[in-house]
Amino acid sequence: MAEYEQDLKDRVAIVTGSSSGIGRVTALELAKRGAKVMITSNESKRILDTLEEVRQFSPESESLEADVTSPPCMEEVVAYTMRCYNRIDILVNNAGITRDNLLIRMSDQEWYKVMEVNLTSVFRMTRLVARPMMKQRYGRIVNITSVVGFTGNPGQANYTATKAGVVAFTKTVARELAGRNITANCVAPGFIATPMTDKLKPEAQNAILSQIPLARPGTAEDVAQAVAFLVSDRASYITGETLHVNGGMYMG
Ligand code: NAD
Repeated sequence: MAEYEQDLKDRVAIVTGSSSGIGRVTALELAKRGAKVMITSNESKRILDTLEEVRQFSPESESLEADVTSPPCMEEVVAYTMRCYNRIDILVNNAGITRDNLLIRMSDQEWYKVMEVNLTSVFRMTRLVARPMMKQRYGRIVNITSVVGFTGNPGQANYTATKAGVVAFTKTVARELAGRNITANCVAPGFIATPMTDKLKPEAQNAILSQIPLARPGTAEDVAQAVAFLVSDRASYITGETLHVNGGMYMG
């Protein structure tokens, strides 16, 4: 095993939405690097499957079913993590959904639901972990945004607004918490093969693929590597930044 692979030894990480796709693979990657991971999402069965996998690398990892749109649930995730490990070093705000519709057909419900899951939850979770991180004078926050938060995308007025919002939010957090040795960054995936994108029609998938210079969809592993770098001490002088993982689809 390469030496850097244990670079998160004994760090404590919360990964939201870690029962599927990018979150699941990120939780596994952090565990492989030695972190104790709190697996959390709103999918009870899949959380336990992920926990079983993660424990093969990091036996002290734990899980808690929690909906990111419920403030008491999120408070419990943070309180439970503190009870288990007495510290929180890493937060990956990854949980996210789409409710696509063209602007003129988009309902208030579709707008607000995506805001709650993709943006408000990022604010609430970050606010909750800020105190313990400030106290321990160490923290690494990574928020998962998206390439479309930079480019826009027809049918995704709600989703793109949340993802652009996450970028600006992260810059403010980076400025507010830097004095306590806490960094906050974003990872912006492009087109990644996960259950979220499996839902797209083949024609839509091919149209996106034709715009990717590296000519393949990304994998959840591609994204997890970027997260693992940003939460490591190798990235200790990087804050307020967005790392794009998109095969060249968009170059900022
Ligand atoms: P996914 O659907 O496979 O996983 C989403 C995860 O979020 C699941 O674990 C789900 O349980 C969780 N989740 C959803 N609603 C929740 C809620 N209310 N409470 C708690 N957990 C909830 O999707 P993915 O593709 O792995 O996406 C992960 C993140 O990456 C999202 O923020 C998404 O916007 C972003 N992203 C994905 C792509 C892509 O191409 N797949 C591209 C750019 C950004």
